[in-house]
Amino acid sequence: MQTPSPSSAPTPEPPTPETQPAEPRAHAAPSNVLEAPEEVLTTLQKDGRRRWMYPVLSLGSWLTRRRVVGYLLIAIFMLLPIIPVGGYPAILLDVLHRRFHFFGLTLFANDTVLLMLFGIGVLVSVVLVTALLGRAWCGWACPQTVYMELVFRPIEALVEGPASRRQRQDGQELEIDGLMKKGLKYGLFLLVALVLAHTFVAYFVSWGDLLTFMTSSPSEHWGYFVMMAGVTALIMFDFAYFREQMCTLACPYARIQSVLLDRDSLIVSYDPARGEPRGRRSAKARKEEEGGAKIALGDCVDCGACVRTCPTGIDIRDGLQMECINCMQCIDACDAIMLKVNKPVGLIRYSSLNAIEQQPRRVFRPRLAIYVVVLSVVLSVFGWLIIGRSAVDAGVVRPNNGAPFMELPEGQVANRLRFRVQNRSGEEATFRIEALEPAGTEIKYIGSGDLSLEPSEMVHVDAWVVAPAAAFHSGSTPARFRVTDGGEANVELSFKLLGPSR
Ligand code: SF4
Ligand code: SF4
Repeated sequence: MQTPSPSSAPTPEPPTPETQPAEPRAHAAPSNVLEAPEEVLTTLQKDGRRRWMYPVLSLGSWLTRRRVVGYLLIAIFMLLPIIPVGGYPAILLDVLHRRFHFFGLTLFANDTVLLMLFGIGVLVSVVLVTALLGRAWCGWACPQTVYMELVFRPIEALVEGPASRRQRQDGQELEIDGLMKKGLKYGLFLLVALVLAHTFVAYFVSWGDLLTFMTSSPSEHWGYFVMMAGVTALIMFDFAYFREQMCTLACPYARIQSVLLDRDSLIVSYDPARGEPRGRRSAKARKEEEGGAKIALGDCVDCGACVRTCPTGIDIRDGLQMECINCMQCIDACDAIMLKVNKPVGLIRYSSLNAIEQQPRRVFRPRLAIYVVVLSVVLSVFGWLIIGRSAVDAGVVRPNNGAPFMELPEGQVANRLRFRVQNRSGEEATFRIEALEPAGTEIKYIGSGDLSLEPSEMVHVDAWVVAPAAAFHSGSTPARFRVTDGGEANVELSFKLLGPSR
């Protein structure tokens, strides 16, 4: 466990009437003494109304690390749609053209197996990381937490002051100064929301197209403007109003964590054996304690700093809760208090239930082995399919209009077919379609039959496939085609040609 240096140790804001520890979970009064009290979310009041959170910022080593990671992730998020890899942005989800670029790898909508394996891989990775590190995703990498705690809340604190002042101001009628500050705050929020919305949309349309949209008249690209306005409004709603409720009410991940975690998963935990019985100490009692005199209290001085700093308003001393997003703020807050009262840091720490309860710890657990095996299989199959993937994809169908075949005067049978050819390579390529079976079959294109394709381009070409009538038995004959660029990119197609019954 990291020990914060005294120089970096924060001085937590002293409790004031405004920043008193958030009330413990509200309990609806039981209607009779035999009923258990009903627990209510910390972000709600007993009557169900919203309880606005004013988390006090706690400086400390965990916050410093989260800031480094968080700002790095924000930079990566901004850069991924801009940095080119293999001729495309590092990530471009081109839904319109049904192709998805990931660091030089292009997946198409018809790559269903690859897309499915990709999705399973992501899912199993999340499950594995959660089993190992708890909700590390929530506290360290989730855009909701990263932008809320590292962008929107700092702006709020910069404009309106620390949590205690904001709470005091919000409880009073706003003066002109307060109104101006609110206006400035929401103006800055809107600016950030616009930047975020543009970055988000760039993942779907690329920065080049985005710049074109941004510099042309809204009437030329009204769809883009509607989408941008919608995304900006959603971001504003989320970060200016909905906030921690996204984690406590809306996010499904929080709800499944109880089945993903086990007693050896790392979680933010309070050490009750060390902290209890909790209680405030007088200066005299502290002196006696330092002098070795026996006291009955544990290390928790019941100052409430861990509760005041929690963005979801929970008391981690009640144990692991669904609302805990692993932000580590309570660790930094408590470590600072421990340093002040000359106790070792780590009363709240990043640990596991077994470690906290001093039970034997298991690093290797059967569920981890299963996750690792599943993930390895999924990644191996994914890699194998990617390596073996042809640079051309093709298909053939019979158009559903007109007669299925024609008998030609020269003793041949013509089937009208539609070929689909897609260039899956990263370079321009020219393809041709060869008829392999039956022998003597020719392909006569309807139209130019041009198969010079840009990277990722797909075309449909119609053609008459003319085969000798002698090849047909019982009204059909199997045919094989090869679509090739003359080099390594080739794919074979099988199809049944129809003809006269003999
Ligand atoms: S309990 Fe601690 S780690 Fe969990 S959300 Fe609250 S402050 Fe963050
Ligand atoms: S756990 Fe730490 S921060 Fe929380 S009330 Fe006890 S001493 Fe204060």
